[in-house]
Amino acid sequence: MSFVKEYADKKAIIFTDFDGTVTLQDSNDYLTENLGFGLEKRLELNDKILNGTISFREAFSLMLESIPTPFDECIQYLLKNIQLDPGFKEIFHWAQENDIPIIVVSSGMKPIIRALLENLVGEDSIDKIEIVSNDCKVNPDNTWEIVYRDETPFGHDKSRAIKPYREARNAADSKQVLFYCGDGVSDLSAARETDLLFAKRGKDLVTICRRDLIPFTQFDSFKDILANMKSILSGVKTIDDLDENKP
Ligand SMILES: [Mg+2]
Repeated sequence: MSFVKEYADKKAIIFTDFDGTVTLQDSNDYLTENLGFGLEKRLELNDKILNGTISFREAFSLMLESIPTPFDECIQYLLKNIQLDPGFKEIFHWAQENDIPIIVVSSGMKPIIRALLENLVGEDSIDKIEIVSNDCKVNPDNTWEIVYRDETPFGHDKSRAIKPYREARNAADSKQVLFYCGDGVSDLSAARETDLLFAKRGKDLVTICRRDLIPFTQFDSFKDILANMKSILSGVKTIDDLDENKP
């Protein structure tokens, strides 16, 4: 379900990646490294994605296929091991109080994201945070597989989720600010649809933002993101002030 019309008059919308951004660890990498074919093979695939010899979608499928564990056990394993960004709860409550929607845009699988949000942020959070992601199909014999959202080489082109909101904002000639928070290369296409990208410090995404002149600012935790969002929405700072590509 999409809320393009309902959100048109909000002062801001926060789009965010999930794995490695809302959470400290990437849950799919974590499953692959600990229950699937391991770290070394995962890094090999990662290099192949970066040099273009395999698509994200193919590599991601291979990673997930290497995990023999039933899906509900995978979820239990993640609930025990994955931690939340130390500032996320605070920004979630601030966004609620200020009527600012949060939309998770993820290549991960919806049941995992829901379980982690419920456990780490609170039971009510999954009714208040929209999730646009891939899904999972559990077969009668208890095997499982990822169900991709679209036909693109990403499996889920994140920019498609954001574009309608940007177009609605532009059509209404509103001052709404669109933010994106992310840590990975798959967040890049999404970031191009928003006004400012918060990029996790030290990640590949930062290098690409510099190269392609995408308006960005680095963050260590959602505490930094919240402070910067507050200063933009109160008019203390502009996006240009925060953009690390601006001199
Ligand atoms: Mg990520």
